[in-house]
Amino acid sequence: MDSQQSTNYLIHLECADCGATVSAETIQHLCPACGGILLARYDLARIQAEVPRERIASRLWSDGLWRYAELLPLDDPADPMEHVTLGEGATPLLALPWLSAELGVDAWLKDEGLNPTGSFKARGAAVGVTRAKRLGARTIALPTAGNAGAAWAAYGARAGLPVVVAMPRDAPALTQREVSLYGARLHLVDGLISDAGKWIAQGVQAEGWYDASTFKEPYRLEGKKTMGYELAEQFGWRPPDVILYPTGGGVGLIGFWKAFQEMAALGWLAEGAKPPRLVVVQAAGCAPVVRAWEAQAEATEFWQGAQTVAAGLRVPGPLAGRLILRVLRETQGTALAIEDDDLRRALGELGRHGLWVCPEGAALLPAVRRLRNEGWLREGERVVLLNTGSGLVYPDVESLNE
Ligand SMILES: *Cc1c(COP(=O)(O)O)cnc(C)c1O
Ligand SMILES: [Zn+2]
Repeated sequence: MDSQQSTNYLIHLECADCGATVSAETIQHLCPACGGILLARYDLARIQAEVPRERIASRLWSDGLWRYAELLPLDDPADPMEHVTLGEGATPLLALPWLSAELGVDAWLKDEGLNPTGSFKARGAAVGVTRAKRLGARTIALPTAGNAGAAWAAYGARAGLPVVVAMPRDAPALTQREVSLYGARLHLVDGLISDAGKWIAQGVQAEGWYDASTFKEPYRLEGKKTMGYELAEQFGWRPPDVILYPTGGGVGLIGFWKAFQEMAALGWLAEGAKPPRLVVVQAAGCAPVVRAWEAQAEATEFWQGAQTVAAGLRVPGPLAGRLILRVLRETQGTALAIEDDDLRRALGELGRHGLWVCPEGAALLPAVRRLRNEGWLREGERVVLLNTGSGLVYPDVESLNE
């Protein structure tokens, strides 16, 4: 690779399944050789030589996820005009002393609800739209369970790009309104995100839309992985022992895995630090990853009749199912499912501690208790609950004990 004078550290895209590499300078979706998921690869050796982590630490916290610019798909990491931004990232990491005392662990909550549009989907949309615009995408199209549609509509509007969003008719009403408010085209389907995906695929074929479906473009992942960098930095570059993550399509989970791999290769992690064990938390009414994990299967199977109030977890057939399971094996993680009644109880309990989390995030509270009771989570371990969004986006999901 020709690297003289270049400030761009992105080398190419690499298939997570067959290892094939393709150019990152043109629009790419899935691996042309095998249909696998493409991952962005950077010249980590050159970053290690040229970018000490102290340089990252010296940047303004208010620059949000762009503080990690060298690890993002940018032509010139030093040029802020390239960023399509609404102020995403730089979210709080909150100690949970009441939970730590109860469980004998060191429990924290990272609150992604403070992002623009109220969820961590803003991270993926900021980076995904930035790259789509740079590569010359004309109309961005995606299916969504709700939050991704709101986020991509907002960032598309910010970038001046048209956006087409398909979502289930019973997706959170607020996210439907947001899509329209941001001027995107909203198509409602009687069905699930998988049905919305079929409608988008037709338009991609017929109209040449840029397919921004989960993992059908490589850059949403790059935005979401910044949660891992931020978390490491907030803990002084020492990763927590365990991260609990409410998993739908698995972008955030795979993002954590990728971020900690990159940070290890860069030598940015504290002496002797180990990557965190990653935990998939799903809703009992739609738990394809948990079922596959318990069966020790290599791939997930489509979940029939998916149903849960946690809209972001209503993903019956995640495209990245195989990769999610591989990440669980590689990080010595685990997977578990939570009943809707239990997550709605947790919603009220967290509320009484001043936190209105999304229902997806609320599922993490019964999950961490179960892992501790089973001994999987050990005494004194540092555990992070990754709350993916704000409860304000779901005014209709009531807690069971308000
Ligand atoms: C999308 C979403 C999830 C699931 O995220 P993935 O990265 O697709 O697994 C969880 N919670 C909320 C609030 C979401 O919007
Ligand atoms: Zn491949």
